[in-house]
Amino acid sequence: MGIIVQKFGGTSVADSQKIHNVANAVIKEKENGNDVVVVVSAMGHTTDYLIKLAKEVTLTPNSREMDMLLSTGEQVSIALLAMAIQAHGYKAVSMNGQQVGIITESIHSKARIVDIKTDKLQKNLKEGNIIVVAGFQGVTPEGEITTLGRGGSDTSAVAIAAALKADRCDIYTDVEGVYATDPRIVPNIQKTDVISYEEMLELARVGANVLHPRSVETAKQFGVPLRVRSSFKLDNMGTLI
Ligand code: ADP
Ligand code: ASP
Ligand code: MG
Repeated sequence: MGIIVQKFGGTSVADSQKIHNVANAVIKEKENGNDVVVVVSAMGHTTDYLIKLAKEVTLTPNSREMDMLLSTGEQVSIALLAMAIQAHGYKAVSMNGQQVGIITESIHSKARIVDIKTDKLQKNLKEGNIIVVAGFQGVTPEGEITTLGRGGSDTSAVAIAAALKADRCDIYTDVEGVYATDPRIVPNIQKTDVISYEEMLELARVGANVLHPRSVETAKQFGVPLRVRSSFKLDNMGTLI
């Protein structure tokens, strides 16, 4: 019995069937006796689509309005996943970055998280809820919506795990773990079972987008046990960082 933070990326929540699969993975952790906080990204290529839409309106979109626009993607996912979990007969509540209190710097499009309030998260967990949190977004002390940079939902998950002193943070994605290089470009390479924070940081910084570099920095700083694993092969333990 502990606190587990799970994160599911865009491909893992790309359609309604996949959202139900994610609900099953979440419920499995809950059934193991854990308190569960789930962080999700926008569905499929939603963020790319929203960026394209903005560029059709103007080639120089205002950065505040871009954050307002892009943050909507994750908000769709949290509502649908909370509904799916409820449809399976479990208590769930969705929360956006502002509702949680994910406080960031006052910078648009690549803000850093400076603080995460845990009171509302703790209260909801105590009431038996599975909490579904919007990744990639936060709010400034002035109440402005911010985003954390592309791929930033990983960082949302790790930062929440650190704030809650979670037992584990599992990043579920569309590959089975971390590899020496992108397994989609170099097939038939061996998955790494365990990798150090330093080695993972190096991979992330040179563009292995399986983990957002800041998520690895945060995990290292707060000693968060982090795993990258497959959304589609739930019994596979993936890679421990
Ligand atoms: P998500 O939507 O789940 O956040 P991402 O597309 O951001 O997923 O990251 C997963 C992708 O990272 C994989 O599909 C893979 O192609 C790519 N990738 C790049 N380098 C690596 C690596 N070294 N190990 C694993 N995956 C990698
Ligand atoms: N939806 C955002 C993106 O596409 C954040 C994320 O997926 O982590 O970059
Ligand atoms: Mg990603």
